[in-house]
Amino acid sequence: MAAVTELTRADELRAFGDVVAGCTKCALAGGRTQVVFGSGDPNADLMFVGEAPGFHEDKQGVPFVGAAGKLLEQLLAGIGLAREQVYIVNVLKCRPPGNRDPQPDEIEACEGHLWRQIELIEPRVVATLGNFATKLLSGRPTGITRVHGQEQETTLGGRRVLLYPIYHPAAALYTPRMLEVLQSDFARLPELLGRDVAPPEPLYVPPAVAEPAVQLGLF
Ligand code: URA
Repeated sequence: MAAVTELTRADELRAFGDVVAGCTKCALAGGRTQVVFGSGDPNADLMFVGEAPGFHEDKQGVPFVGAAGKLLEQLLAGIGLAREQVYIVNVLKCRPPGNRDPQPDEIEACEGHLWRQIELIEPRVVATLGNFATKLLSGRPTGITRVHGQEQETTLGGRRVLLYPIYHPAAALYTPRMLEVLQSDFARLPELLGRDVAPPEPLYVPPAVAEPAVQLGLF
């Protein structure tokens, strides 16, 4: 009799990555070198969500490997973490031409992949890097300047998580003063990872209306 093997979270994530690798849900599929699914520890408590792959990410198939990625690694090192200990993804899995902003139809086509990744990884803290990830995951239009460094409990992938908006590391490449803001927002991550998040509110289920015992209209 064949042995029943239990799929690990890593197996499920890999299988899902294989499916997403062939995605043609939006026009970006036509211009990509490859899908940039995500990388890191499938069991990570901390997940980062960036915007979209750039030139280097598209070539290597790994998120945040360019200049912004180097800075992300430095910021992680500052709190004693390596990128292999967290999970890193983007809102869009394919590179927009010329690194332009993600378009609403592209986000809509791609967001299901992100929801499924969150469902499979079950992170405790989801740190959104910049405006696009923050607006998508918070479901609000408020920009990163107003909400960075302010954690909020929310339900993502069916579980309660702490959503923690942070500036995109690329912002500090062009505005060095931004580095201090990023460092101080990163400094709070260890505390947030240790926090208990309340279980979801039970959904309101209206009481069932009793069926009449007989079909009165028949009499
Ligand atoms: N910027 C992003 O948002 N994601 C990457 O993967 C690289 C740069």
